[in-house]
Formats: sequence, C-alpha cells, structure tokens
Amino acid sequence: MYNAAIIGAGPAGIFAALEITKLRPDWKVVLIEKGHKIEKRKCFLREGYDKCPRCRKCGLLCGWGGAGAFSDGKLTLTPDVGGNLVDYMSREKVKELIEYSDKLYLDFGATDEVFGTDMKVFREIERQASLAELKLVHSPVRHLGTERSLDVLKNMQDYLDKKITILNNVAAKTLIVEAGQVKGIVLDNGETICAEYTIIAPGREGADWLTQEFAKNKIGMVNNAVDIGVRVELPASVFEPITSKLYESKLVYYSPTFGDEVRTFCMNPNGEVVQENYNGISTVNGHSYAEKTTQNTNFALLVSKKFTEPFKEPIQYGQHIARLANMLGGGILVQRFGDLLEGRRSTPERINSSTIKPTLTCATPGDLSLVIPYRQMLSIIEMLYALDKIAPGTASRYTLLYGIEVKFYSARVKLTNELETEGVKNLFTTGDGAGVTRGLIQASASGVHVARTICAR
Ligand SMILES: Cc1cc2nc3c(=O)[nH]c(=O)nc-3n(C[C@H](O)[C@H](O)[C@H](O)COP(=O)(O)OP(=O)(O)OC[C@H]3O[C@@H](n4cnc5c(N)ncnc54)[C@H](O)[C@@H]3O)c2cc1C
Repeated sequence: MYNAAIIGAGPAGIFAALEITKLRPDWKVVLIEKGHKIEKRKCFLREGYDKCPRCRKCGLLCGWGGAGAFSDGKLTLTPDVGGNLVDYMSREKVKELIEYSDKLYLDFGATDEVFGTDMKVFREIERQASLAELKLVHSPVRHLGTERSLDVLKNMQDYLDKKITILNNVAAKTLIVEAGQVKGIVLDNGETICAEYTIIAPGREGADWLTQEFAKNKIGMVNNAVDIGVRVELPASVFEPITSKLYESKLVYYSPTFGDEVRTFCMNPNGEVVQENYNGISTVNGHSYAEKTTQNTNFALLVSKKFTEPFKEPIQYGQHIARLANMLGGGILVQRFGDLLEGRRSTPERINSSTIKPTLTCATPGDLSLVIPYRQMLSIIEMLYALDKIAPGTASRYTLLYGIEVKFYSARVKLTNELETEGVKNLFTTGDGAGVTRGLIQASASGVHVARTICAR
C-alpha cells in the first residue's frame, strides 16, 4: 500500500516524485517504469539505422528519463512553448512552475547558461521576422546537451533511489478503479500495487495504452492536433546569425494558401538528425551535443492540423503518413529542396553532389511529395521561402528535407485544472502522454503541479 504511485519515469513522473518527497518525506511512493535504469539504457538506433533491432520497448523513449534522456536537453523557459499548461492555470502560475522546475534542474547539475535573454537582440530579430510575416516567440533556452542531460537524470535517479521505491522493467497494465475512485494498478508481472493517489505520466510512447485504459474507465478524451512535417537540415552558417544569439528560434507562420499554422520546432545548431522508432514506425527527430558538433543545423517544420467531426483518429492519421514514408524508403526519406521543386526524387548521386552532407546517413533519398499531403507540403514550401528572408540560404536547392517528422499529441484527456481526470477521483495524468505537454520543462512543471495538489489534499 502506497500513498502515491507514479507511472512513467520521464520528466513528468520524476518531477512529481521529487516534489512529493520534498513536501511529504514520510510518504511511501512507488515509481513504475517499464524501461531500464538510466545506466542500462541503450539505443542501438543511435549507432545507425541498420543497428536498430526495433526493441519492443524502444530504447530511445523508454527507461529512466523517458524520451528526454537522450534528448538534446533544451529547456525552453516560457509558458508559450512546449505544452498547453496555460489552458489549466494562469500564465503567471505556469511561469512560477517553470522557474521552480528549472531551478531543480540546476540543483541536479544543469549548466547555468541561458540563451535568448537579451531583449534588445530579440527585438531586432523579431523585427526582421515580422517583415517576413513570421512571428518570433520569445523563448529563452537552457541547453544541457545530450551528455549532460544524462548526468542530470542520473543524479535525480540516485537521489530518488534513496527516498522512494523505483520499479524498473515492469509496466503498468490495468488500472484498478472502484466506485469512481482509483485504487491502484496491476502490473504486467501480475503484481498489484495499491495506492491512494495514482499519477499516470507515460509519455507519447505510452499514449496508446493510456487511451485504452481511459476508454475502459469511461474517462473523456478530446481530439488534439496532429503536427506533421519534415526535418530541415542546412549548413549551420545559414542560421548562425540567429542561433548564436537565441540558440533556438521559435518562428510561427500562417501559410498563405491554406492559412495553416506552420512552426519551427526543436532547432539544433551544429547538431545531427536522428531516427526515432515509435511503435514500429520510423520517424525523424534531431538533437545536438554540448561538445561534439557537426557542420549542420537542423530543425523541424511542423504543420498543425486539428480535425473536426466526425474524424476522431489524429494519431492513426499521423501514423499512416509516417508508414507511407517507411514503405517507400524502408525507413526515413530524404530529399533535396531543389529536387522537390523540380518534381523528381533525390538519388544518392544527387545527394552526394550537394554542398550539404546529411548527418542521418541511413535515410533513403526519395520523393516526399509521394508521402506528404498537398496541404502540408505546400505550407512547408511557403514557410521555407518565408524563412529564407530572415536566413538567406534556407530555400537553397541543396537544403535537405527528411520525412516524416510527426508529433502525436494524442487525444487530450478531459482534466480538471488540477490535472485530475474527470470521472475517476485521485487519478491524475500529466506530461506528453496525456496531451498536456510537449517538451521537457512543461512536462517537469506539470509533474510538480500534480504533486503539490496531491500533497495539499
Ligand atoms: C530525440 C528527442 C529529442 C527531444 N529533445 C527535446 C528537447 O531538446 N527539449 C524539449 O523540451 N523536449 C525534447 N523532446 C521531448 C521531450 O523529451 C518530451 O516532451 C518529454 O520527455 C515528455 O516527458 P513525459 O514525462 O511526459 O514523457 P516521457 O519522457 O516520454 O516518459 C514517459 C515514460 O513512461 C514510461 N512508460 C510508458 N508507458 C508505461 C507503462 N504502461 N508502465 C510503466 N512505464 C511506462 C516510458 O517508458 C517512459 O520512460 C525530445 C524528444 C525526443 C524523442
């Protein structure tokens, strides 16, 4: 019997545990994580696509630290990016939670440098962006880098190991709900965990499981948008005037033809493009190391689409498009922007006779226009031309586009402002899997918020 059970040791689950142990040191807390401890985590994909054994529990996404472990560790310190927490509480409250969580990262060893705090520099870049009909979102960034991110998470694991029960390599299988109140969870090893409060933070990787469990318990869900797009890779010098000052620029554009929102996401100066394995589907992402650098910068261009009635399957829609790219390319497709405009596929020869060397070497040169719907494709092309005005060279024929990058924000759970499920008492859900957040700092902040609510109750 525990006071609180937490499912998922991503940032949302870890920060919930940190806050509970601070506020209620006497409580018995269990943290259930289906992946390995941090020191045992390994992602073969990072050694090359052909090395990926398609682990049943994806090494990149599962284990202590969740999807954040091998991530770039960019903490975007603003309520306007990386999640929807402002839908549940005031902006001021979200700011306070972000500042608090950021301080916890510092306490556990994060670097103290923050990019993008000079408002004079920001205003000048904002002005250039406005002239190109782009909106620059102010988003200061603390950049840990992948190696340091692992150290910080290891420090948190060592700290919590002494305070709570951590179960690794075991998954939550079934929620126990009686008379409208959560009582605990049955694990996939047959064990039962009884707990007064349960926090579910399974990340995007566990979103399907969460949806199924919530459907069984008649917990309401609402459609979230699905973001589909490409990862753009270009010479680091093209964005250097911006990245050297802001590190990451969050730019939003409304495509002239369709009026859809297109945004830059997860910009990695001197970084590398990586492949992600989502339930057997290969998708693309990017990161950068603190020390090891490449000649290229990469970022995602995502087109947001929220479906209206009667369609209710945004995840399946995104998966379908990603599968199509996998079907054609045997994994990730890469195409030069010039080839896309000329209506021809890229070939290994064309990629080789370019000024940019791809950092994701396993991607298959191909034709993204066979995969991405016209609506999203045209919005991406229009955005590339807009970006070219503030970073000349972006719309170069050599610019590489990798597909598919897709963000499954999944169905969003119907939650109270305390992030408690509507319908099942004492059951809280948070982080990316609940559709509440989409980045490290807001996921962490959401964990703190839930922990405070529970402890106050
Ligand atoms: C390659 C990559 C780079 C990224 N870079 C950045 C970045 O630089 N900055 C940023 O802000 N964000 C980044 N992100 C996103 C960020 O990692 C996520 O937003 C964040 O990790 C979400 O936190 P979470 O706790 O909600 O879920 P997750 O981190 O996904 O953690 C969920 C955990 O729950 C576990 N789990 C799932 N189901 C179960 C179950 N049934 N039982 C037990 N355990 C379960 C999973 O194994 C996982 O460990 C990146 C993501 C990736 C993949």
